[in-house]
Amino acid sequence: MLAVVPPPVTVRVPAKINLHLSVGDLRADGYHELATVFQAVSLTDEVTVAVAEEPGVEVYGEGQDSVPTGADNLAWRAVQTLAAHVGRSGGEAAVRVVLNKGIPVAGGMAGGSADAAATLVGLASLWRLDISRDELADVAAELGSDVPFALYGGTALGTGRGEQLVPVLSRHTFHWVLAFDQRGLSTPRVYQELDRLRAQGDPPRVGSHDPVVEALSSGDPRQLALLLGNDLQAAAVSLRPGLRRTLRAGVNAGALAGTVSGSGPTCAFLCTDAESALAVAAELAGAGVCRTVRVAHGPVPGARVVGGDDSP
Ligand code: ATP
Repeated sequence: MLAVVPPPVTVRVPAKINLHLSVGDLRADGYHELATVFQAVSLTDEVTVAVAEEPGVEVYGEGQDSVPTGADNLAWRAVQTLAAHVGRSGGEAAVRVVLNKGIPVAGGMAGGSADAAATLVGLASLWRLDISRDELADVAAELGSDVPFALYGGTALGTGRGEQLVPVLSRHTFHWVLAFDQRGLSTPRVYQELDRLRAQGDPPRVGSHDPVVEALSSGDPRQLALLLGNDLQAAAVSLRPGLRRTLRAGVNAGALAGTVSGSGPTCAFLCTDAESALAVAAELAGAGVCRTVRVAHGPVPGARVVGGDDSP
């Protein structure tokens, strides 16, 4: 009898913006203690997983040439980690992963983590695993600290290395303009630069995230705009001084406020509403301060099978 090959599964997964990111001192294990408020936004990657005789990864779209297709690809690591977790090996775990990227590579928007989360959700469906989203989140945390958030999406407070998540109530849809830079920034390099700046002097640190959580529940973008903050911003700007101009240009174009997302270099501008976001995007695109401009809204859900409701 012929074995039935399941059809490929496509998963859409969002990028994240850090609305607030507080970085503690360097820990003995080499990590920094973080407290961050994440929001998942409508800028997405699409990941297709399929049973294949020739396993591997293909990458198309945004930044395709700078994404590794071998064992270093985070989506590929997700295949291996989930296969080991559920005891699949050899032909049983042979899959092809196709990434269609919309999220900028090394942009501070956790695109690689998003692909890993999408791969986990896709494989759970392809392999018909009886696995909850919470169990997938445990596997996700092994792959990287931003991977669990990409599974859940929405708005959440992340602590530890960012992987311990608590959902945050967000009553409103917020409208964003995203400015992509010419090149990415390496996350470890940005943390090193922050350690260097802190060793030299003590650059100001963002305060508590509590007011941000309150502003999210009130749903007022003007209140939230006053509270956006990122301890990594000074380090990202130190490595990429042009970001100062980009941040200024977004506010001059009519955004309520701008912030570097995560380790940068993508800048995220909060706008009053959808219409204002389009106007800010058009003006920013003409200002010559970035490579590409996108509008997005958030919060949006985490990794979901496209056209299906059978994801865990
Ligand atoms: P971080 O989550 O560290 O903030 P980021 O959002 O700045 O990361 P990513 O797009 O996740 O950046 O990529 C960081 C690096 O990871 C890239 O330079 C690339 O070499 C590598 N990488 C591995 N897998 C992927 C993937 N699936 N997509 C993009 N980059 C990947």
